[in-house]
Amino acid sequence: MADRGFDLEDRLETLEDDDLKRSLSPVDRVAERGYFADPSGGDLPVLDSAEALVFASNNYLGLTDDQRVQDAARGAAATVGTGAGASRLVTGDTLVHRDLERLLTEVKGTDRALAFSSGYAANLGTITALEPDVVFSDELNHASIIDGCRLADADTVVYDHCDAASLRSKLEERARTAAQDGRDPDEESWLIVTDSVFSMDGTVAPLAAICDAAEEFGAWMMVDEAHATGLYANGGGVVQAEGLEDRVQVQMGTLSKALASQGGYVAGSEALIDCLINDARSFVFSTGLTPPAAAAASEALHVARHSDVRDRLWENVAHLRDGLESMGFEVLGDSQILPVLVGDRTDAIALADGIREREVVAPVIRPPTVPEGTSRIRVVPMATHDQDDIITCLEAFQAAGEEVGVL
Ligand code: PMP
Repeated sequence: MADRGFDLEDRLETLEDDDLKRSLSPVDRVAERGYFADPSGGDLPVLDSAEALVFASNNYLGLTDDQRVQDAARGAAATVGTGAGASRLVTGDTLVHRDLERLLTEVKGTDRALAFSSGYAANLGTITALEPDVVFSDELNHASIIDGCRLADADTVVYDHCDAASLRSKLEERARTAAQDGRDPDEESWLIVTDSVFSMDGTVAPLAAICDAAEEFGAWMMVDEAHATGLYANGGGVVQAEGLEDRVQVQMGTLSKALASQGGYVAGSEALIDCLINDARSFVFSTGLTPPAAAAASEALHVARHSDVRDRLWENVAHLRDGLESMGFEVLGDSQILPVLVGDRTDAIALADGIREREVVAPVIRPPTVPEGTSRIRVVPMATHDQDDIITCLEAFQAAGEEVGVL
């Protein structure tokens, strides 16, 4: 009989041969971290159980450790329960969800907001529910956007990273070719999608210029604020920092980074949210966000808005960037994510190992994640790092950089 199964061993071997196979750490090493192991940086155990300073977390404001956020999660678990128990449309809707959505609406300056069980689910559900004919997508957009475009079966037009001129020429070209192909471009629905802060390059999209292009061509704008939510004006993202609330039809983000929780959201008009409640399959056919996750995110958003925690993050970012640059490192981007460009992948690995020996953890990002010759160390300070932590990190880079010969 023909074998109609799947040769998974072969597939895994190929990954292994190409040096691309990923694995979770062996369980005994995870166990050594202890139950309350770090996702949060600071003097906490890391994978090999040694004490080290972590400059690698997306928990930018350090709020996973915050007593108020932890109490909110605990309180919701105790009063509402640990799980939603069903889809929001069935019996999984609670006041904890409504409170989070009300806060997100306020912060994002929209009519309404909707929580999803992850940022990934929010992107997938939203892009498919919109049913765009064409999506114009930044070349470095997150995988969940790429997957959303695929699942929506949209024509996807990729423009150069953070390049509004490239976007504009793609919009012009599509308008021209649609007319040449006998299609009426005015009949097509066009969606422009971009991350606001890009996680591997630390770049910030030129949102105002992208909005200009969108408006000129009648397209809708969708912005993924996963790495920005909670960090900018009033606890919002780059859309808030630049006052673009009325020009961006779809504001999306995750609760899992600065908001120290799990889940995703979309904020926009009444009609958009109503449409998602009906047509976003990752919302309709998935259990509601767990109440503790919703409560933790609400509390984190509150803290992000009403305390000095954001200022502390940005002070650390400025201190670390200045220190690295004055040593002679090239630091990319213009956000809280500080990619230290090394270039050669072997040097980058050696540098990451060198800082690790000095008890500082920051990951090397190398091909195929980034192009050959642009290997880098992704350094991410947090609001909870103190001055000594920043100095330890800088000293590790100085010593390891000299040792490896990249300084
Ligand atoms: N968008 C971007 C830009 C992201 O970086 C991520 C998470 N890595 C997501 C969406 C997905 O969010 P989540 O982790 O909540 O699924």
